[in-house]
Amino acid sequence: MPSDSEQPVDSDSLRKFDRNLIETGRPLAHRVVEPVPFCWFCDNVAGTRSKEHIFPQWLLKHHGAMDERVHPIRISMPLGGVVASERGERPLRAHFNGEVCAGCNNGWMSSLEVSAMPILTQRPRRGRITDAEATVLARWFAKTAVNLNVSQPFRLLVDGPSRHALATSIPDRFAVHMFRVRKQNGVFDWVQKSPDAASCPQAQLDGMRRLMELTLVTHIRIADLVAVVIHAPEPLQPTDVIPDRTARIYPLPDRLPTWEELPFHDDYLGPFTHIDVI
Ligand SMILES: [Zn+2]
Repeated sequence: MPSDSEQPVDSDSLRKFDRNLIETGRPLAHRVVEPVPFCWFCDNVAGTRSKEHIFPQWLLKHHGAMDERVHPIRISMPLGGVVASERGERPLRAHFNGEVCAGCNNGWMSSLEVSAMPILTQRPRRGRITDAEATVLARWFAKTAVNLNVSQPFRLLVDGPSRHALATSIPDRFAVHMFRVRKQNGVFDWVQKSPDAASCPQAQLDGMRRLMELTLVTHIRIADLVAVVIHAPEPLQPTDVIPDRTARIYPLPDRLPTWEELPFHDDYLGPFTHIDVI
């Protein structure tokens, strides 16, 4: 398989998603290749594991969504964005990442939830988003995107250094944008994909194709609010990856938008994302 890691990895230790794909014998897109760790967020190799809910109970309760059910889907870029695979339907409260150590879950992740709760549950949302709010939201959405990337059916695209650095900050491979949606089917939605388009000189086409495959674009919808979390591989900058008509909240722009200024789209999948390095 195309490997972007230095070390060969025994296929038995790969994520189930990758093992299943390898069995089909088809060529695989570029991805981060590494064995499933004890904890996706730190170097611990032993101890107690715990279940990190992808959407926390307090947020499900706030939106009355404890019984909401979802079909996690995977969108295939070569197939023009059609749904390429589906998992069985199950309730949101049963979506968790079981490969997280108790130290991470009860430590920095728990503190991050406490910081994010008042921002994600405030009503009405009015006025300018502050630097502190943008930083907490961006880190919370980046953490959520990583939980989705490691535990849901899509290729692994966030490498160890980026995942581990989330414990203290927002790693510099991430950018986070927000917008609002009119159409809401249930409270929560997400999709993982790669950028839809890129502009680059002809001679760099192959290199750009690889960078597109290694760039993760995650849309996460909570009611009318959608975050687009970008994780870009080197040598791209995460700000080279641009979701159309959205407001960047991280890296912090010179002037953050007000909640009322966040652009509207009809659908949470709406904004196309392109890489622009020319
Ligand atoms: Zn950990």
